[in-house]
This record gives sequence, C-alpha cells and structure tokens, in this order.
Amino acid sequence: MENNNFLYIEPHVYVNVAKNGAILFNTINKKLIDCRKDDVNGYSFLTRVKENSSQGSIQLYKREVLDSSISKLLTKIRNTHMGDIMSSNTRLVSSRPRFRITDSVEALMKNEDLTVGFKAKTYLKEIILFSGSKFNCKQFQKAIYPKSIDQGNNSNFGSIQLTKLFSRLIDEINEYQQLKNINIIYTETLGKEHLLPLVNALKNKKSKITIHFSIVDSNRIKSLLIPDLNYSIYIPNNIPVSNTLIKTLDSEYTCLFNFIVMETQDLYSIHQLRKTTNVDIHPFPVYKENFQFFEENVFIDPEDIISQKIDLRHISMNRSINQNFFGKIYINEYGQLSSSLTMESRIILDETNRIIDFIIIELQENRSWRLLRSHVSPCKDCKFNELCPPISRLEFEMNRYNLCKVPI
Ligand code: SF4
Repeated sequence: MENNNFLYIEPHVYVNVAKNGAILFNTINKKLIDCRKDDVNGYSFLTRVKENSSQGSIQLYKREVLDSSISKLLTKIRNTHMGDIMSSNTRLVSSRPRFRITDSVEALMKNEDLTVGFKAKTYLKEIILFSGSKFNCKQFQKAIYPKSIDQGNNSNFGSIQLTKLFSRLIDEINEYQQLKNINIIYTETLGKEHLLPLVNALKNKKSKITIHFSIVDSNRIKSLLIPDLNYSIYIPNNIPVSNTLIKTLDSEYTCLFNFIVMETQDLYSIHQLRKTTNVDIHPFPVYKENFQFFEENVFIDPEDIISQKIDLRHISMNRSINQNFFGKIYINEYGQLSSSLTMESRIILDETNRIIDFIIIELQENRSWRLLRSHVSPCKDCKFNELCPPISRLEFEMNRYNLCKVPI
C-alpha cells in the first residue's frame, strides 16, 4: 500500500522542465536546484512536480522516496526552503498568485473582452520616431552613431512628412493615458517647429520626450537643446570626445550618455571617461562581427540569470509578453508603424488607420510584443526560458536568440 506522504511546494517556487533539464527556483531566497536530463529518475520526478505545480503538492510514491537521486532532490528542496514532506489523507492545496496583465492579454487574444479597444489603448507605453523607409537595426544604428557603423543610404525625415507626422501624432496621443515616452531619433530636418507643439500637447501628461543623437551631431542640434526635453547621447568608440562637452551637456540638460562598446578596450575607455568627467556613462554594446567580445562580455550563464530581480510577477509576464518590446511602436516619416526594427510595417498612420488598429493586430499576432523565448529555437527547449531576460535588440543584431553559455 502507498503511504500518504505529499511533497508540498511553496507558492513562490518556480518549476520548469525542458529538453536540457529541469529546475526549481526559489523566487525569494534565489536558490536554484538544477537537475540534468541524464539524471533520469530525478528528471522524471520533477516532470511530475511540474505537472502538479498548479495544485501545490504531489503524492510521493514509496519507490520515489527510496530512489537515491529523488531522495537527494527532496533533501535539497527542504534545505532550500522550497517545500516539505507532509503526511495527509487529502491532497494539500496552495493558492498561486494570478496576474492581471497575463489574463488581460490572453482575453484580448481571444477577443472575449468587450472593452478590447479601451484596454488595448492602455498598453501603449512608448513611441519611437525614426527615419528610414524600411525598418532595420542597421538604419537605427547609423542614425544614432553614424561614425561607428559602415556608411550607407541613410534616408532622412523630409520636412513636409515630418510636419504631417507630428500633427497626426498630436491628434492621437491624448487617447493614450499610459504613454510614458516619446523617443525621437535625431534627423537633420527636425526643428523646434516640430517639437514645441508636441511639448505643449504633452504638458499636462506624464510623458517625456527624449531626443536620441550621436555626440558627433552635438553642434548641429544646438537649437534643439531646450530644457523641457531629455537627451540620450551616443558616444562612438572610435572618435576622440571632449570632456568639457560631456560635462556641459550633463550639467545643463537631462542627459543619458551611452558609450558604444564593441571591444574590451572600450570598457576601459568608459571607465576613464567616467573618472575624468564624473558623469555616469552607460555601456551600449553593438554587434559588428565582434563575436568573441560578445561571448566574453555579454553572454550570460545561469548565475547571471538568477542574480537578476526575478519574482513570480516577472515570470508570469515572461509567459505572455516580451517586456523589452511590449507597448512600444516604431513610426517612420511615412507614418508606417512597426513593433520592432526588424518587422515589416503593417499599417500606415492616415485618415483611416489609427494607432489602435496597429495595437490590436500586434496583440492578436505573435510578433514582437509577444515574442517569447518559449516560442523560438533553441530557447524553447531550455529550462531557463521563462527566467531569462526577454529577447532584445541584440538578438536581432546577432541573428541568434541564445546569447548565453547554457548548453541545450
Ligand atoms: S538565452 Fe535561451 S538558451 Fe540561453 S539560457 Fe536563456 S532561454 Fe536558455
């Protein structure tokens, strides 16, 4: 006869089973139990734990308790405060938290929610205005740090298109109460005449406008340096940069400095620049066939993954949305909308199409906003796929999803 022992798993413990093994992760004390797939008994036991994880407990069979690898796992589970063995005549139940964003996005997918239009509007968080007839990462790179990337065709916002686009946007943005950021990639035709009406339209809202530009363009954009705006400034790694200019920009305006990093030497340069300017300067890695640099400095291992801030809410979000892209739309000078730099535009902002139409399409189709590691190879077969940071622009630039040292 089987005994009545149950393994109770704490609600804050995350369980995942994939082709390359199984894990239990305590989201409170950050302890990880990692089980390889070749530990056949341990792996199949954790598969059963995963299948029952929504219930909070599983019955333990005698043969499992007597198995040495399962019993080692049970000891680890107890020692890491992830659960305990309890005797009971009925199954132990624990309630697991639910998160509204997941439910809400799922409801929108199925179009069950009658308020779909209103809810979808609350998802727009960020607009990126950008020059170029096609969306691709290289154009973005050329726009923000022109000297560090091979030169090529880099189309510019035409002034007429720009005026039309800004007035179209001003008409629309009042409907988007959660819109926090409007990012504008600097272009030569951008002028105060475009920005001031936008600044006025956002006066009573919490949205902020940030102009992104390369420090090599500082002289050209002087007329746009106005106190109401924020600036994100990119410093190419291959040009000498004036400390005085950095200090002046930093003291007079709200600036974020990004240093383009392509090789190890660049990390040293950031350190020097921080020391000599006393300004916080962030590394901004760019891929340009510098694979070894990325492998050594950007690729993550399990330690990096679990050392991030991960709670159940974060994991739940990773199951339904890509937190790097969700809520962001890219708009070029022709009013074409895209959800990322690599996606073709599906809608042109005009008298018939509005931003909301684009949001609904984006939510219904599995594109950037919902581009999950669990959907793409090789991450879909990895036990860390819901703990790992979401897919980012770097993956697109490198054309591979697993920027990590974890074997599949
Ligand atoms: S990047 Fe992909 S393969 Fe690498 S650890 Fe994360 S989920 Fe796994």
